[in-house]
Formats: sequence, C-alpha cells, structure tokens
Amino acid sequence: MGVYVVAGGAGFIGCHLVERLLDRGDQVVAIDNLITGAEDNISHLYGNPNFTFINQDIIKGLPRIDAEVLGIFHLASPASPNAKSPKSYIAFPLETMLVNSLGTLHLLDLALHKGAKFLFASTSEVYGDPDVSPQKETYFGNVNPVGVRSVYDEGKRFGEALTASYVRESNVNAVIIRIFNTYGDRMQVDDGRVVSNFINQALMGDDMTIYGKGDQTRSFCFVDDLVTGLVSAMDRDTRGEVINLGNPKEFSIKELAEKVKHETGSKSKIIHEELPEDDPKQRKPDITKAKKLLGFDPKIDLDEGLKKTIEYFKSL
Ligand code: NAD
Ligand code: UDP
Repeated sequence: MGVYVVAGGAGFIGCHLVERLLDRGDQVVAIDNLITGAEDNISHLYGNPNFTFINQDIIKGLPRIDAEVLGIFHLASPASPNAKSPKSYIAFPLETMLVNSLGTLHLLDLALHKGAKFLFASTSEVYGDPDVSPQKETYFGNVNPVGVRSVYDEGKRFGEALTASYVRESNVNAVIIRIFNTYGDRMQVDDGRVVSNFINQALMGDDMTIYGKGDQTRSFCFVDDLVTGLVSAMDRDTRGEVINLGNPKEFSIKELAEKVKHETGSKSKIIHEELPEDDPKQRKPDITKAKKLLGFDPKIDLDEGLKKTIEYFKSL
C-alpha cells in the first residue's frame, strides 16, 4: 500500500489534511522542520501506525522514502505576511524563497522518481494587488517583484513555473492550487494573520488593530472546506490544471472586526494602524473551475467558522 507525503504537515492546513487522509484509511508521511508549524498540531497522531513524522528541512533535501508514493502535497512554506509576527515570511525571506524553489524542485523530483501525483499549494498572492475582481485563474496578476511581499509572491510564482515545467517537460502529473485566505482551529496564536489577531485581541480585551481604513476586502474559507478541495484535487484528474480554492463570499476587514467583536462579546476598542506596504485592496476567488473539476462547494460560512475558531482559541 502506498503513502501520501505531506510536506508542511505540522502546519495549520497541513495538520488538518493529514488527519483527513488518516481518517479515510490512508498512510501518511508528514515532513516538516517546524519553522512556522508546531509539533503540538500532530503529536496526538504519533501512536497511529499509519502515520510517520519526519523532522526535515526540505530545502536541504528529502528523507529517503522506500514505500510506493501515491501523492505528494507541497504545503511547506511560511505563509503569514505580518512583519510584526516572528512567524511571518517577512521574518524568513530566504527560507521562504528557497522552500518554494529548491524545496519544490526536490519534491517534484520525488514525484518524477516515484511516479506520484504532485500538488503545489500556491496562493492568491500570485495575483498581487489585483485590478480585476473576482480573480480567475487566467488573470496574470499585479505583483511588485521587489517589495516586502515579493519573497513569498515571487517564490510561489517560481514554484508554479517549476511545476508547470515538470508537467510539460517530464510528464509529471501535477496540479497547482491557488489557496485564498483560510482560517480555523490550530492557526498559530502569534502568526499575525487577521483572523487569529482579531480573535486573540478580542478575547484578551486588547485593542483590535485594523490596518488602514479597513475597507480592503478578503474572502475567508474555513479550513475543513479547503481540505476537502485539496483532497479532491489530488484524487481527481487534474493533471496540469491551475485551480483557485477559497470561499467566494467577500468581507471588508472592518466587517470582520465587527463580527469577531460581536461573536466574542468583547469590550475591546477597534483602532486603526498603518496599512502595510503592498497590502492588496481586494481579494475574491472565482471558483467556477473548482466547482466544475472538483465539485468544490464550501459549506461553512464566516459566522459558523468564526464560532468554531473562537471556541478553539478560548480552549488554549
Ligand atoms: P503554516 O506556516 O501553518 O504551515 C506551513 C508549514 O510548512 C509549517 O509547519 C512549517 O514549519 C513548514 N515548513 C516551512 N518551511 C519548511 C521547510 N523548509 N522544510 C520543511 N517544512 C517547512 O501555514 P499554512 O497556513 O498551513 O499554509 C500551508 C500552505 O498553504 C503554505 O504553502 C501557504 O503558502 C499556503 N497558503 C496558505 C494560506 C492560508 O490562508 N493559510 C493562503 C494561501 C496559501
Ligand atoms: N490586517 C489587519 N489587522 C491585523 C492583521 C491584518 O487589519 O491585525 C489586515 C491586513 O492588512 C490585510 C488583511 O487584514 O489587509 C488580511 O491580512 P492577513 O495577514 O490575514 O493576510 P493577507 O490576505 O494580507 O495575506
């Protein structure tokens, strides 16, 4: 019986994906160097005979895997843009560029060698600060190639180019998934992303920090819905495809702050801080393609997802 490899398996999305695969009876090898993830996310799985964790930096190379490999999910990369967080990709510029380039190369070579399917976790950030909305996969984006966010944006764009090249030149069966803002339990408390920041601030009674006026928009997908899409993209015939995954319902950051404040019953004050450089003004996925190819249909709306996420943060 073959295994699925999840690079970045101790991260926020990765640990949910690992559990989903184990739940359906798959064998899983998670590889992670814990640079932004946490062993706590997966340590409860250590006794499971179908689960193996390998602590390894995939920039440096991959561990030897003797088993047949059915599929490789490449989720390994710092993912938070918040320069105030010690876990942001801005705190790890080289690591971010290299894991999306060299790390991707190593995993693509493993896919080639093993005849395994490869899924690259790309991002809506490849669209940069988009001047079209909603964003379709055919949009080439509006990215500042030298700004503070470029270590991530261009790293992901390079990872996409490399993946597309392995499909064309080496006939690797690969799919590129552009993930839009995803949230839920087991986000890191200090990762600086807007949902975790607002919930923490609201629960602690601290000021809730809106960057800029708060009229910029994001579309928030609950992690369970996202993982359903990732698994379908691995299982179905998606060779060479580029597919957006996210929840298309768009909210302003101000609306999000008000929802979190209301849901937590917090007395926190909402304050405004400076908008970070190159902060995208809008983000909303066009998921027509995901619906058609994957039957993707996110079920958990923001109110329900926030309730679940708030319960998790309360439990910490
Ligand atoms: P995360 O930081 O929680 O998870 C990433 C994991 O990768 C971490 O556990 C980290 O330790 C590991 N990692 C990083 N560099 C590594 C290396 N060199 N070797 C081995 N492991 C390494 O972030 P996440 O939110 O779970 O994101 C997972 C993937 O999805 C990332 O590739 C991210 O770019 C992408 N993505 C996430 C979102 C989102 O909203 N969460 C949006 C778009 C794209
Ligand atoms: N943001 C905010 N307050 C915070 C953290 C983030 O207003 O404490 C804003 C940020 O400027 C951006 C949006 O929320 O406009 C989403 O930020 P996040 O870091 O979650 O992800 P992004 O979509 O920018 O990658």
